Amino acid sequence: MESKELDFLEKVSEVLNDTNNIVELSNKLKTLLPLQSIKNINLYVYDAVTNTLRDCIQSWSILEDSSDIYKAYEDICKNDFIINSKTYKLPSAIGDIRLKISSLCIPMLKKEKLFGLMHLDFEENTSVNLEYLFLMKVFAAFISLKLQNIILNEQYNINMEFYDSMKNIAKIIETQYELNYIVPLIGEMLDRFISDHLIYVFLKHEEEFQLVWPKACKDERVYDALKELTPETDYVLINNDKIGAFPLVSDGEISGCIVARSTLEALSKRDISYLEQLTRQSAITISRANSYSKILQYATIDALTNLNNRRQFELRLGQEIATTKRQNTPLCAMMIDIDFFKKVNDTYGHACGDAVLRGVASIIKSTLRESDIPARYGGEEFAILLPYTHIEEAKIVGERLRAAVEDSPISIDSVANVDKIQVTISMGISEFNNSETGEELFERADKALYEAKSSGRNKVCTA
Ligand code: GH3
Ligand code: MG
Ligand code: MG
Repeated sequence: MESKELDFLEKVSEVLNDTNNIVELSNKLKTLLPLQSIKNINLYVYDAVTNTLRDCIQSWSILEDSSDIYKAYEDICKNDFIINSKTYKLPSAIGDIRLKISSLCIPMLKKEKLFGLMHLDFEENTSVNLEYLFLMKVFAAFISLKLQNIILNEQYNINMEFYDSMKNIAKIIETQYELNYIVPLIGEMLDRFISDHLIYVFLKHEEEFQLVWPKACKDERVYDALKELTPETDYVLINNDKIGAFPLVSDGEISGCIVARSTLEALSKRDISYLEQLTRQSAITISRANSYSKILQYATIDALTNLNNRRQFELRLGQEIATTKRQNTPLCAMMIDIDFFKKVNDTYGHACGDAVLRGVASIIKSTLRESDIPARYGGEEFAILLPYTHIEEAKIVGERLRAAVEDSPISIDSVANVDKIQVTISMGISEFNNSETGEELFERADKALYEAKSSGRNKVCTA
């Protein structure tokens, strides 16, 4: 081999060593190709799951059936070269002549078996000899190894992320039992891993499937798939495998269903396997959440914040309203919601979100009087009853609480070099008027809260 060719191979191997990312790899290779009069390179890899060829450089897109590359892939043997669309068996077919070349296809091999194709376009008036073709064969072997490496690596990372997410969900539900909090998490996570398909989560309520994530589904075929489910079916595929329904089964009964739907791509074997694992995990999660919430019906304290839980709060509300009416004393209601709390979860993770909820709860407790009744109303909402308090006074307490939250960043276990997170709250306050129910009192506080939100947040509004 001449030194120019050795130099080329050396530079190629440097590039290959240097990167694990296909886009970067192809960009760097492109700067080297002119050394060998090559104008353009394409790399195609066979994907056994979808039985298609994928264009590695164009984000692994699937090649159209009509492409000549399919035919080349079917016809080529491991020692062939396709030069200007004509197949040559080497070395005998070329001997020592020079050939004018405009395009070249070389098989890429994995353990001696066909794995993909390298396709090159040449500058005008390029001619090559046998030695050059062997150089390209070595080049193709280098690239093939690298591609296998990148594919394995990506697969590994996706699998790791997948199992991490499964673990996270399992962890989150150790302290959470509200399905309207857990189900969206499951939906979002599935959405991330099954990227070519839309995900829907249904829960069964009195024999009917009800969509709980996302908010709407207009495709009737999704509902058709649901009809075919029985507790014995592993899953149902319809519409040329583009829609798949995976039942959530607990105690031998269907408690809900996860549906994946696409208008373009069929579900691959890998998607199906992910979905099966995740529905199994989700079914366990949901059934645990259900039994947890049954147990907690008898509890009075919220496990995360140690404030009154909603049930206990509603009991206390009834009692306080009776007292207020009997003694003709004032009573105020406060509704509080943490601002942009979803962003805390999304940025730092749900464990930090939980730490922030605990932190806000503890600021609430330390700001109130002994006679006030704070509760975790649900999610990131708090409700407070202030007996013997008029609205002017309640406003002062509310403002003090709002400022205390704003001025007290909450400690979290250091994540991404952050030790403390600052959040703000919005608040609505109403005062009891003898003719209303407790529910109506809080509805008015909630309206005021909505006003605080829509007029800029980190605010106290009164009804
Ligand atoms: P806004 O200012 O309008 O209130 O914005 P937001 O992001 O706070 O509003 P949204 O209601 O969209 O988000 C509330 C989030 O609170 C969504 C949910 O994931 C999260 N959440 C609810 N309960 C819990 C919980 O117990 N723990 C954690 N970490 N997050 C929770
Ligand atoms: Mg909210
Ligand atoms: Mg909020």
